[in-house]
Amino acid sequence: MAERKTKKKSEAEILKEALCYEPRNAGIALSDEEWERADLFCEGYKKFLDLAKTEREAVEIAISMAREKGFSAFDPDRTYKAGDRVFYNNRGKALILCTVGRQPIEQGVRIVAAHIDSPRLDLKPNPLYEEAQLALFKTHYYGGIKKYQWTVIPLALHGVVIRADGERVPVIIGEDEGDPVFTVTDLLPHLANEQMSRKASEIVKGEALNVLVGGRMFRDDQASERVKLAILKLLNEKYGFIEADFLSAELTMVPAFHASDVGLDRSFIGAYGHDDRVCAYPALMAALDVGDPTYTVVTVLTDKEEIGSEGNTGLNSHYLEFFIDDLAACFGKAGRRVLSKSKCMSADVNAAFDPTYGEVHERKNAAYCNYGVVVTKYTGARGKSGTNDASAEFVGEVRRLLDAEGVQWQTGELGKVDEGGGGTVAMYVAAYNVDVVDIGVPVLSMHAPFEVVAKSDVYQTYKAFAAFGK
Ligand code: MN
Ligand code: MN
Repeated sequence: MAERKTKKKSEAEILKEALCYEPRNAGIALSDEEWERADLFCEGYKKFLDLAKTEREAVEIAISMAREKGFSAFDPDRTYKAGDRVFYNNRGKALILCTVGRQPIEQGVRIVAAHIDSPRLDLKPNPLYEEAQLALFKTHYYGGIKKYQWTVIPLALHGVVIRADGERVPVIIGEDEGDPVFTVTDLLPHLANEQMSRKASEIVKGEALNVLVGGRMFRDDQASERVKLAILKLLNEKYGFIEADFLSAELTMVPAFHASDVGLDRSFIGAYGHDDRVCAYPALMAALDVGDPTYTVVTVLTDKEEIGSEGNTGLNSHYLEFFIDDLAACFGKAGRRVLSKSKCMSADVNAAFDPTYGEVHERKNAAYCNYGVVVTKYTGARGKSGTNDASAEFVGEVRRLLDAEGVQWQTGELGKVDEGGGGTVAMYVAAYNVDVVDIGVPVLSMHAPFEVVAKSDVYQTYKAFAAFGK
């Protein structure tokens, strides 16, 4: 093999290295072992995606994983010491995990907050009807979706029904091998002249998101709506509920397909609901892997982010504040003193640069797949309206931490100025006088039934949360 001559660097090259920011080299610097660790980590993530398609399922799985790692239910009347691990289950739809740190609680806590709800089609309170020998469910979509994307794909039914006697009946249909699935039908192109001339937001209207659930009629000449009756009979046989029980239910249609590797090099994962389980899973794993942390580590898996964080399981309610209050009280301190010294990673996704739609991004400030975890200083729209806008000091602290821990990271802004925008839970946590910055995984096809992320970015996100909670 020929000897390779080391070329002397020019003055410009030396100066460029010292002065210029070059985010594109980040991925090249990753070792083979780092890529392998990412692949391995994502095997666990794919299983989690398939088992936790709703916030309720995510909470259930997270609690069982946490119990195995020594977490127990938080008791505000107890005393706690460094290393103790507790969880607070908010109505089975949001979860706080906490490991008590060595530093006194009044030194503040380290919060990682991700959300476990994702866009989907919720059933209406009175969903079942029959028309033209077809039984269908009426739906009301949850979160910001392009409605046309939710037609003609296999859907699974998830949720709970509270029967008249108060019994809570969990429902999952469409996930197991051999299970039937459901679907929203769409118009054939042959008859779609009028539909195709509508603007995209109305190609499929909200009231057209009706789910096909049956077509075989009950064998009785007397009754009307015989297909609907046959469906109710099936539901009653399997779950013991009647039509009126839909009134007190949370049933939802989610994509039935499972997470899979995408690409010949398997570098991506395609799945339903990466937003925001792609941050929630790394946050959960980091919370479970916390050893003997310096500061108390608080991991929040929250609900309702996709519809504005409202409701008592969303972060615009006070449940996080109340938990910190109760925790502080265990140490004889006031919650607000803890919160004002606390720091938070608001763990949510950002848009990954998509070359097919490059015009909506500002390339110098967009996030890219395989460039690592994205630190998003601010979100919002129309002149940073509705954002937390992290301080230079806190971003500086996060930057030093990520660099020191060898985390591959990048900066990202959600699209060009005035192109659109979005929000996260950051501002609700910041409202408690906490330092907050947004950080998470870049996602392709965000809010589509099949979203795409790069495995490497998922792993770097885990590393970031683990570093924050050391
Ligand atoms: Mn999100
Ligand atoms: Mn979202």
